[in-house]
Amino acid sequence: MGSYFTGELHHQLREDVRGFAEREVRPRVAAMEATRTVQHELSRLIARQGWIGATVAREYGGMGVGHLAKTIIIEELSRVSGAMGAMVQASQLGVAKIVHFGNDEQKKTWLPAVAAGECLPTIAVTEPESGGHVLGMAASAVRDGDDYLLSGRKVYVGNSHVGDLHGVVVRTAPGSKGLTAFLVESERPGFSLGAERATMGLHGFSFGELRFDNCRVPAANRLGAEGDGLAVAYSSSVLYGRANLTAVSLGIHQALLEETTRFCEERQRYGKPLHALANIKLKLGQMQSRLMTARLAAYHAVSLLDQGASCDAELMNAKLVNVESALDSARSAMEIHAAAGLFTDRPIERFLRDAHHIFAPAGTSDVQLLRLAEVALGTAKGSWSERLAEFVRTDPTHSDPTRAERPGPSDAECQIAVPRQLRTAVM
Ligand SMILES: Cc1cc2nc3c(=O)[nH]c(=O)nc-3n(C[C@H](O)[C@H](O)[C@H](O)COP(=O)(O)OP(=O)(O)OC[C@H]3O[C@@H](n4cnc5c(N)ncnc54)[C@H](O)[C@@H]3O)c2cc1C
Repeated sequence: MGSYFTGELHHQLREDVRGFAEREVRPRVAAMEATRTVQHELSRLIARQGWIGATVAREYGGMGVGHLAKTIIIEELSRVSGAMGAMVQASQLGVAKIVHFGNDEQKKTWLPAVAAGECLPTIAVTEPESGGHVLGMAASAVRDGDDYLLSGRKVYVGNSHVGDLHGVVVRTAPGSKGLTAFLVESERPGFSLGAERATMGLHGFSFGELRFDNCRVPAANRLGAEGDGLAVAYSSSVLYGRANLTAVSLGIHQALLEETTRFCEERQRYGKPLHALANIKLKLGQMQSRLMTARLAAYHAVSLLDQGASCDAELMNAKLVNVESALDSARSAMEIHAAAGLFTDRPIERFLRDAHHIFAPAGTSDVQLLRLAEVALGTAKGSWSERLAEFVRTDPTHSDPTRAERPGPSDAECQIAVPRQLRTAVM
């Protein structure tokens, strides 16, 4: 597992998370697969380890260890359970908007509870009729005195059914400057959840529907100014969403290789282990190569984030390479297992199903390719990692005492001219 990217802190963190995942999560996976129900208790147990606060500054009770550390946490949980890796990444994604756009009061109110695992945040952008076309959303908020009244639906929201604090982006006016973000506590009247729906994989994780029916929310719960909603949605998706889903794919990919290698050593054919067949060995070598390349892309991108360097393209590429290569390796693993891979007493078919879930969120592979083509053509205009560098830069070896004093982005920063190329689809 050695890597020049990782120092002592990261190695220790990996050991801790791996130990926890083996001890607390693995014994529950069979029941999660059998019952296919949302894991409320296990989600809380994981949150109480403090990992949702990986990128929350220590002044707010967080770990303050940054983005590479966050990747390692998600990767190690996903190696054992894609569902629980997805659960952690969805709430870490929900942290982004508060770190980037929360005012001092909002940070003091919410971040300590998030870091302690008492409050699971989400981010809710997607709607049934708009999908990745964020500006096509219809859910709205109307000002009513010191409050807003929210109405509409959000779908596929990660941690929908375990979340306590939903970061909801809705329309307050027409056009690209007409989106606004709010923090909505799950117990507010007018808020409700859609029914849990059966899914192909990630059993135990919820990514369901939030409903708002004249849900009254104080103006103090607004993140940033009216009109900042698009920036909230895009910056969360680009800087956290892509990295987090990359990490889920990476963990599943690692599990695929470990399980397949074990199978090749145990299974005997022609009086020898299966890997004695040259084609099987080649497939294993290909899986090993893909995994190494995927891990390099993942760690490189988030290491740049920790340094406060420009890395939007690296984050896109990391998500693309990880999602696609994990899916390719899942197919190789299924082929190597042949009939044995089709039975649910082995985890290979679960890895294949779970890996498919990582394709859509934070930009499908087609969307990443379109954005990367713009990088190649020199037409990519914006860089969220540059614009919000001071909020993502981390030195995991010591906390930054000035971070707590930092205000949210200035009005000018909030009015980030969203690059035309990013306006079509990034979620
Ligand atoms: C596991 C999981 C977790 C999720 N978590 C969240 C969450 O926490 N919060 C949230 O708000 N949403 C979440 N989502 C929703 C996710 O963001 C959407 O699935 C995504 O935005 C795509 O929307 P869609 O699935 O409706 O597909 P669509 O956007 O309808 O896309 C359909 C097809 O059209 C293609 N396409 C779309 N736009 C373009 C374009 N501009 N150019 C070329 N091709 C295009 C796509 O590549 C795809 O093949 C999650 C989804 C999943 C599966």
